[in-house]
Amino acid sequence: MTTISANWQAVKERIAQAEARAHRPVGSVALLAVSKTWPSSSVREAAAAGQREFGENYLQEAQAKMAELADLNLVWHFIGPLQSNKTTAIARLFDWVHGVDRLKIAQRLSAARGEAGLPPLQVCLQVNVSGEASKSGVSPEAVPELAAAVAQLPHVTLRGLMAIPEPDLDEADARERFAQVRMLLETLNQQGLTLDTLSMGMSDDLEAAILEGATLVRIGTAIFGYRPRKPADAA
Ligand SMILES: *Cc1c(COP(=O)(O)O)cnc(C)c1O
Repeated sequence: MTTISANWQAVKERIAQAEARAHRPVGSVALLAVSKTWPSSSVREAAAAGQREFGENYLQEAQAKMAELADLNLVWHFIGPLQSNKTTAIARLFDWVHGVDRLKIAQRLSAARGEAGLPPLQVCLQVNVSGEASKSGVSPEAVPELAAAVAQLPHVTLRGLMAIPEPDLDEADARERFAQVRMLLETLNQQGLTLDTLSMGMSDDLEAAILEGATLVRIGTAIFGYRPRKPADAA
């Protein structure tokens, strides 16, 4: 077994244990493997272990890997910060986008998807649950209005909410952040939306996220190892 496939098995086991601890059905939490900065050969190893869904943060890097891995029929999620000038390419290449936090970006994604004649793009709104400690994400108070507007767009399907709490929280504080996101999703569904996705939890806090209702965890380091440094302008 390669390191990646052993790591992947260990992450699957962590997810299964957290599901059991949370009294949630086995297999109710999806695993998104975050392959940013890793070569397509690493993605291929994870795919050989059984992984199908991959998350990437940088458009150009993802584009190269998608071309190299076209034979595998993988599902690609864009989880990085969204810049307006990249929305068209992102809408055409990816199946999911997790970091939507402005209506203008959602409108551009929808338009590009429509022009390309593709089925709706699956999107999550990124919620800022860390206040001043985070630069990205929509504030919790602004989520209902943004969600209602995005749900009306013709070529995107609003699936749910995504959050990245500030790093190094203890488990109680992490759970509080994640619980806030879950309650927001419940409120939106009470208001008539039908959202099914809570994208929250990374290598260090996946248990806390699953205990608070995560349906999809985004895991990089625990599968692929510690990332090599990447220049800040690599997006
Ligand atoms: C890099 C990244 C991850 C993976 O984080 P790890 O700590 O390596 O598991 C998850 N989500 C987002 C948005 C990321 O940018």
